[in-house]
Amino acid sequence: MERLQKVIAQSGITSRRKAEELILEGKVKVNGTVVQELGTKVSPKDRIEVNGVQIEREQPVYFLMYKPSGVITAVSDDKGRKVVTDYFQDIVEERIFPVGRLDYDTSGVLIMTNDGAFANELMHPKYKVDKSYIAKVKGIPEREVLKKLEKGVVLEDGKTAPAKVKFISGDRKKQTSIIELIIHEGRNRQVRRMFEAIGHPVMKLKRERYAFLDVKGLNPGEFRELTPHEVKQLR
Ligand code: URA
Repeated sequence: MERLQKVIAQSGITSRRKAEELILEGKVKVNGTVVQELGTKVSPKDRIEVNGVQIEREQPVYFLMYKPSGVITAVSDDKGRKVVTDYFQDIVEERIFPVGRLDYDTSGVLIMTNDGAFANELMHPKYKVDKSYIAKVKGIPEREVLKKLEKGVVLEDGKTAPAKVKFISGDRKKQTSIIELIIHEGRNRQVRRMFEAIGHPVMKLKRERYAFLDVKGLNPGEFRELTPHEVKQLR
């Protein structure tokens, strides 16, 4: 048995907070009867309607995928390009979706789930999930320049939060460097824009870790289920 608002949020139609409002407003029915008690518990057999529409209920599933570069982080693409859910077709029946986004050209850790509440939690800025990126950038940045990334750089959509930066290696001949950047924000193309802002554009980008999760043991395009313990740790 689970709390009604959690089950509604899990279905992906709205957040837990909004689900609570809907319940209080009398917009939720369980087995045909309006329920306005927030603590109501429901079983997998109960039929739940929100605004007169029955919600789809599936067992929540959680995967860690090694997203390859050259794939769109979406469930479909109107131009017919490859999307991350293509890799799960014929293997996973649940209607899963990505938690957040990696750019078309970015590879690395991507979480996939059908649990809308879980996805909303992870993406909420309040949770500050650390994401580690390994970037190959143009040029060899000075220490002082990298410090700017640590303190925060001003982008079009505001200053970035303090970040951790580690210079890994530089190639003087090729004039490229490998740098690790750890951020907890998740703005659109943030890492690329941060390096651009300090004059060292990204040539290649991989998300090495999402919280404590990495892609060890997986090849690009492969995925595995998260263990119940890992799911708990993420929450
Ligand atoms: N930052 C980026 O610039 N790209 C990504 O794919 C992820 C974070």
